[in-house]
Amino acid sequence: MSARSYLDWNATAPMREEAKTAFAAAISLAGNPSSVHAEGRAARAPIETARDQVAALVGALPGNVFFTSSGTEANMLALTPAIETADEKQPRTRLFVSAIEHVSVQCGGRFPRDAIGEVPVGSDGRLDLVALPGAIANAPRPLVSLMLANNETGIIQPVAEAAAIVHKAGGLLHVDAVQAVGRVPCDVTALGADLLTLSAHKIGGAKGVGALARAREDIHFPEPLLRGGGQERGLRAGTENVAGIAAFGAAAAAALAGRESESAHMAALRNRMEESLLSIAPDAVVFGRDSGVDRLPNTTLFALAGIKAETAVIAFDLEGVAVSSGAACSSGKVQPSHVLAAMGVSAQLLRGAVRVSLGWSTTAADVEKFVSAWTKLASALSKGQRGIAA
Ligand code: PLP
Repeated sequence: MSARSYLDWNATAPMREEAKTAFAAAISLAGNPSSVHAEGRAARAPIETARDQVAALVGALPGNVFFTSSGTEANMLALTPAIETADEKQPRTRLFVSAIEHVSVQCGGRFPRDAIGEVPVGSDGRLDLVALPGAIANAPRPLVSLMLANNETGIIQPVAEAAAIVHKAGGLLHVDAVQAVGRVPCDVTALGADLLTLSAHKIGGAKGVGALARAREDIHFPEPLLRGGGQERGLRAGTENVAGIAAFGAAAAAALAGRESESAHMAALRNRMEESLLSIAPDAVVFGRDSGVDRLPNTTLFALAGIKAETAVIAFDLEGVAVSSGAACSSGKVQPSHVLAAMGVSAQLLRGAVRVSLGWSTTAADVEKFVSAWTKLASALSKGQRGIAA
């Protein structure tokens, strides 16, 4: 059993070997990909290979994939009033985001604060499809942003159903698929998404690379986020992160080839882990498990009344297991989870949620290590040891 068990894959995944190889090969290319000489063309080649590979992962055309510096930047790029389509050149005046979006979507990109509306989720953690049509009814040309899978709960959102509602209202749908790609099927057309965000480091690429995919060529951004050179067909100025992009492509190819087997592997371990977790502490709540909603195969978010998330995370860390608090952590202070709050979870559990997220190289030994750490923690709690309880 290795010294440490890393079970925080929703925060970031280790780089895949294929990605490291592509990164290493690209880092020694001297040319600028915009130069026309041989060195420039040599640096351009891995970018275009990666574009094909990332496009294949989400069923887009390569020409519809734009590389960015992160999933966050792709979200910022997408969430702007200035999105034109073949038959709609007017700016979009309202943005609607679900109540459980990642902070990079919640902050609304380039929309003014008062132009951003929130669409609720039900207690099952899924977007309220009954509320959606009413929420966007009076907004001409709404832009709606809905994630495919939530980063805390792993709960899969009804994206295709939401897309039908948004399109009927004359709107566009942006989908933050950062946590979903490589773990569940993610085809931009099948989802009905107009725009889709990806992040390299969640699928085994390098940190600091992302992409925005559009479903159709007629979707234009007349006001790019970064202006300057003509890189990424004028949508994202700045010399490309060649090595990072090359690694993203290799990771995307590996994620696509391995998706079914990796997902089955993660689901089997995750399910076994949840059964043990609940048999040790039958009062623990695993969010999304009892309601039977679709979840990512790798994610468990759980809470037990009396346990404080930050204390639990430290206790697991001391036992050699890396997990995270379900709640957002900023400036070292754990905030109650806005996701669980939106689901109406009781105050007692709100601050106590712990997220365990697995990956393709997680082993049964990692899960055993988690279970033995949990056994100690739960028994300390039942003995009322100080420092564990909330
Ligand atoms: N969207 C979701 C759902 C995420 O989980 C994250 C990162 O945790 C992001 C966006 C941001 O991606 P990046 O870290 O590449 O900026």
